Amino acid sequence: EADKRNTSYGLFDQQSGEKHARRMHIARSLETAIEKQQFVLYFQPKMKIKSHTIDSCECLIRWFDDGEFISPAQFIPIAEHSGFILPLGEWILDTAFAQAKAWHEQGLHIRLAINISARQFTQQDFVAGIKERLQRFAVPAELIELEITETAIMDDEEFGISVLQALSTLGISLSIDDFGTGYSSLGYLQRFPVNKLKIDQSFVRNMASDKRDQALVLSICQLAKNLGLDIIAEGVEEHAQLEKLKEYNCDQIQGYLLSRPIPADEFEAFLAKGVSF
Ligand code: C2E
Ligand code: CA
Ligand code: CA
Ligand code: CA
Repeated sequence: EADKRNTSYGLFDQQSGEKHARRMHIARSLETAIEKQQFVLYFQPKMKIKSHTIDSCECLIRWFDDGEFISPAQFIPIAEHSGFILPLGEWILDTAFAQAKAWHEQGLHIRLAINISARQFTQQDFVAGIKERLQRFAVPAELIELEITETAIMDDEEFGISVLQALSTLGISLSIDDFGTGYSSLGYLQRFPVNKLKIDQSFVRNMASDKRDQALVLSICQLAKNLGLDIIAEGVEEHAQLEKLKEYNCDQIQGYLLSRPIPADEFEAFLAKGVSF
C-alpha cells in the first residue's frame, strides 16, 4: 500500500515537473518571439443573425515557434504571469490597428474586436495608447471593439468603470468577454458602460440538446435585452445552435459554423464569397 502511494507521488512529481519545464520553456521562447516575427493575427468572422451579414471579426493571436504551433490558451496565461503580455499586447494592438486601417482604405466596413488581458486593461496609460493609435492609424473609432473580461474590470471596479467610460467616450465598442464564467454577479452590469455581452462557448456547446444550457442562454439573452445590450454567442458549430439563438433574439454568432479563425487574405476571400446559408 505504502509502495503504491510512493509510486503515484513519484509520477505526480514527474508530471508536474514536466509541466513546469514546459512553462519555463514557453516563457523563455516568448521573449524573442516578437523579433523573430513568430506571431500572426488571425481573424474570425462574426455574423449578424437577422441579416446573415458579416459586420465584424475577432482578432486571435497565433504563435508558430520554429514551425511548432503553440495555442494562445497555453501561452497567454504564461505571458500574463510573466508580464510579457504588456509588450505582446502592444504588438497585438499595433497589428490589429494596421489591419483595420488597411481594410478601411480598401473600403471594407469591418469592425475588429481585440482581446484585452487584465494586465493590459489595468495599466494607467491604456486609454492613452488606444487614443494615440486611433490618430496614428487614422482608423474611425467605430471600427474598433475591445473584448474585456468581467475579471479585468472588477480587479478595481471604480478604476475599471472609469476606463470603460473613457473608451466609450472615444467611440470604441466594448464587449464583456467570457460572460457567465467570471463574477456572475449581475448587479454590476448596469454600472458598466458597455455595448455587448459575449456568451462563453461553454454555455453554447451543448445548447442544442441540453435543456438547462438552453435555459441559461435564453436568460442571458433576455437579461442583455432588458439592459439594452447587444448579445453575441461564440463557439457556434451547428445549425441547431443557430436556430435556438435566433429564437432567443440573439444578435450575432461566431464559430466554426461560419469559419475558423483565418489569416487576413483568407478573411478577405471569405467576405467576398459571403455567407453560404
Ligand atoms: P476567447 O477570447 O474566449 O476566444 C474564443 C476561442 O474560441 C478562440 O480560441 C477561438 O479560436 C475558439 N473558437 C471560435 N469558434 C469556435 C468554435 O466554433 N468551436 C470551438 N471549439 N472553439 C471556437 P483561441 O484562438 O485558441 O484562443 C483562446 C483564448 O486565448 C481566447 O479565448 C483568449 O482568451 C486568448 N487569446 C487569443 N488571442 C488573444 C489576443 O490577441 N490577446 C489576448 N489578450 N488574448 C487572446
Ligand atoms: Ca474573446
Ligand atoms: Ca470564451
Ligand atoms: Ca478568454
